[in-house]
Amino acid sequence: MKSASIAALVLLAGAAVPIAQPQQTLPMNTIAERYVKLVLALGQHDADYVDAFYGPPAWKAEAERQRLPLTDIRASAERLAADLSRFKTESNDELPVLRHAYLRRQLDALVSRVRMLEGATLTFDEESQALYDAVAPVHPDSYFDATLKAIDRALPGEGPLIERYEAFRRKFVIPADRLTSVFDRAIAECRSRTLPHVQLPANESFTVEYVKNKPWGGYNWYQGSSRSLIQVNTDLPIYIDRAIDLACHEGYPGHHVYNALLEKHLVRDRGWVEFSVYALFSPQSLIAEGTANYGIEVAFPGDERLVFERDVLFPAAGLDASQAAAYAGTRALTERLAYAGNEAARRYLNREIDRPQAAAWLTRYAMMSPASAEQRTRFFDAYRSYVINYNLGKDLVKQFVESRGGVATEPARRWTEFVRLLASPRLPSDLRAPARPRR
Ligand SMILES: [Zn+2]
Repeated sequence: MKSASIAALVLLAGAAVPIAQPQQTLPMNTIAERYVKLVLALGQHDADYVDAFYGPPAWKAEAERQRLPLTDIRASAERLAADLSRFKTESNDELPVLRHAYLRRQLDALVSRVRMLEGATLTFDEESQALYDAVAPVHPDSYFDATLKAIDRALPGEGPLIERYEAFRRKFVIPADRLTSVFDRAIAECRSRTLPHVQLPANESFTVEYVKNKPWGGYNWYQGSSRSLIQVNTDLPIYIDRAIDLACHEGYPGHHVYNALLEKHLVRDRGWVEFSVYALFSPQSLIAEGTANYGIEVAFPGDERLVFERDVLFPAAGLDASQAAAYAGTRALTERLAYAGNEAARRYLNREIDRPQAAAWLTRYAMMSPASAEQRTRFFDAYRSYVINYNLGKDLVKQFVESRGGVATEPARRWTEFVRLLASPRLPSDLRAPARPRR
């Protein structure tokens, strides 16, 4: 304690005022601003960390100029967490309460990411808990065998299953010269299905770019002011089902809508600046990826996806529409292998298997072509336990929406609950909690 403080205490003791002053708390918006600046500071050490930022450009310039060392970032983050713990949020409005808990957890994840960059070694599950507030279930190989047997039955013929599967899928590749028109049709459909349920800012829009040499299949770079840049990686053949997947996941009602709603409701309407930055390695990503994946079935309930693909996208791509149902059936089976990617990543990142073994495992259990499997191991290198956000994220979001009555047989209610989740700061661990009774 500094001497000036002791003098102040002595003075206070002499006066007829209570000594036990409440500890000064920073206003929430000051804490939020400091959090944003820490995220930007960490972005100087980790090129993937800042996924989006549309707050004051001067803050970014300051982070670049200062280039705070990791130890300083960690110390500041820990101090900020203490400030946040002293802050009391009492409100009948649920959002400020969620905001407080959310910021606290995002900050913890930031500290964990700093520790990782400083050399801390975490297991796959420790890392996903620290960064994404969730741990994916473990599945033995036998868990996937039943699905593999079902796919085997659906694709009769000679030779290894993966070769038969590849031969079958080859008929469903979108020709390169039709890619743009097929994607444009898919995006327009996803948008028109989303707009009746979501009030989007009038100026919202995105641009699509086709790129190469990336470890991912598609990416939404949110720019602020309700705009996104969506990139589609064309390194590998693009199958017809990717059109709806990407249009929903990256666009409507996925990442583009999610970011635009956070910007509108939290950043613009409430002035909560922490939502103008998106730290990729944080719990927010489980919500982002989970909603983006679950949004596909919200936008296309039942067999509506198959109908649209068969009647519109297959002809637009010049593919044989009579095969659409068979293709959708096989895809439904392979989707059951979604968690296989987590197993490969867990073993690979825990150093139980090497890259060729991980790729071979993905080829066998996730039905990936050798080239896709190799691309996937590069994704593991770059994004690590992030992989759980797609499948576990989807399942947790689905569970949450359904627990609030947003079940498949109640499509309007499902949209309402889904959009409510998109526009609120909720943590992955909140998704597991049973819904509180509504007043
Ligand atoms: Zn995504």
